[in-house]
Amino acid sequence: MTHASTVDTDVCIVGAGPAGLVVARELVARGREVVLLESGAEEPDDEADALNDGDVVGDRYAGLRVTRRRQVGGAMQSWNTPVRGAPGAKWVPLDRVDVDGRWPFDGATLRPYYERAQTLCGLGPYAYDAASWARPETGRAPVQLEGHGLVSRVYQLGARQALLGPTLQRLRESGNATLLTRATVTRLATEAWRVRHAVVASPDGVRRLVRARRFVLAAGAVENARLLLASGDGAGLGNAWGLVGRGFMEHPRDTAITLFPRPGAYRDLGFYDAHVVDGTTILGRLALDANTVRAHDLPNASGTLLPRIRQWGARWLRGGHGWSRRRAPRLAYDGLTVLLNVEQRPHADNRVVLGRRGDVYGVPVPELHWRWHTEEHARLVRLRAVVARGLASLGRVHVRDDASPDPNAHHHAGTTRMHEDPREGVVDADGRVHAVENLYVAGASVFPTAGFANPTLTIVALALRLADHLAAGER
Ligand SMILES: Cc1cc2nc3c(=O)[nH]c(=O)nc-3n(C[C@H](O)[C@H](O)[C@H](O)COP(=O)(O)OP(=O)(O)OC[C@H]3O[C@@H](n4cnc5c(N)ncnc54)[C@H](O)[C@@H]3O)c2cc1C
Repeated sequence: MTHASTVDTDVCIVGAGPAGLVVARELVARGREVVLLESGAEEPDDEADALNDGDVVGDRYAGLRVTRRRQVGGAMQSWNTPVRGAPGAKWVPLDRVDVDGRWPFDGATLRPYYERAQTLCGLGPYAYDAASWARPETGRAPVQLEGHGLVSRVYQLGARQALLGPTLQRLRESGNATLLTRATVTRLATEAWRVRHAVVASPDGVRRLVRARRFVLAAGAVENARLLLASGDGAGLGNAWGLVGRGFMEHPRDTAITLFPRPGAYRDLGFYDAHVVDGTTILGRLALDANTVRAHDLPNASGTLLPRIRQWGARWLRGGHGWSRRRAPRLAYDGLTVLLNVEQRPHADNRVVLGRRGDVYGVPVPELHWRWHTEEHARLVRLRAVVARGLASLGRVHVRDDASPDPNAHHHAGTTRMHEDPREGVVDADGRVHAVENLYVAGASVFPTAGFANPTLTIVALALRLADHLAAGER
């Protein structure tokens, strides 16, 4: 390493994924000077991605490298939901039941930020109920679901570039934002309850120090915890109560239920395939009613329908969205898999810790301890029964109760959970690390619970809320 140069700024943000980019965009729009430090480059870079290596202890899990991305845009660069030919994602807010009584504020607090997030992410109006998007005249309307507890709602599908393109352009044009790429923060140095500077390493061997009045960690749920643990004194920064890294959550994907639609039912189910309504791409989904979640102590969950291709067509038919546009679906498909995205509750033993080996910069690699616990599986079995009952009028429903869910939705959350009490959470309701005056965390690591929802809409909403808070603070 050559000797350090020092950069001074108002706000230093670590990580240029959706969380860091949105905080930066909002702050520069309000005249704040921002330095955004990103470990990857603008293009894919294997050397940078190698910094995402880590170990997994416990149940089968895809690993820490394939579920993340070191590149400007962060994990958005791996998005795999096609949206009118472009890479994109499923967007959806948390339900009130996911937030009320679980987070330090109620779900209504998030609403104005969700509404702003819709615009920023290039989505349609803030409407996730089925009625707003039902168009019976085109054959796309929710079906009648049987039993108690299952209701129809929607995802909006949106392209990555709608958020990434304009955000990067604004940062470039702003004059008060500096985006440093291949700039990996290895440690936060503190002095009397404040972060003094971030230590930044880069592949060319130059070491920089970035001094700022305020710091925002937006490096993803694994790295946010890893950086806190690798900083401060021996126990880590903000870790007086041993909570940093604990409560890691995923959204296991369950495919144990298959629906074999009765004749004609494929046509009736077109609402649950991706389709465009008034310029917005919509995907109908099966949701749980809040009373049922509470009454039966179910994990919250969301179901999408994916076609099972008949054996004869396996070589040239594609699965995924678009199945409802096929003229004779019963010839091509022998059923619909109900893909459930399932809530995992925080468990203290599911956690990120520092491993024994170091990365190329000498920082201990993260070690993820992850298990799907027996009581979670029992709740999943109850959930499957509710979903199967709800679908019964549409055809034959088959449930494989011995099946285990696949943990790999690639939705990391919960490692620096938000709570007003420092004995219960790492950050307060504003996202500030307890006992560190000028350090904030953005991203899903602050989620106290993660519900069923794909996280990015909530990440963007919380980033807007944090930016408002930082902009309102002293200059
Ligand atoms: C395949 C896949 C599909 C997904 N699909 C969806 C979906 O449909 N809907 C949805 O809502 N979500 C989806 N997600 C999840 C979503 O992409 C993430 O939750 C989201 O990107 C997290 O945002 P973030 O900014 O907090 O972190 P990240 O996106 O992880 O960004 C963190 C950034 O910080 C950088 N960084 C890390 N460490 C350092 C360091 N020490 N110094 C400097 N920079 C650092 C990283 O390089 C990265 O650019 C998907 C994820 C994957 C992988």
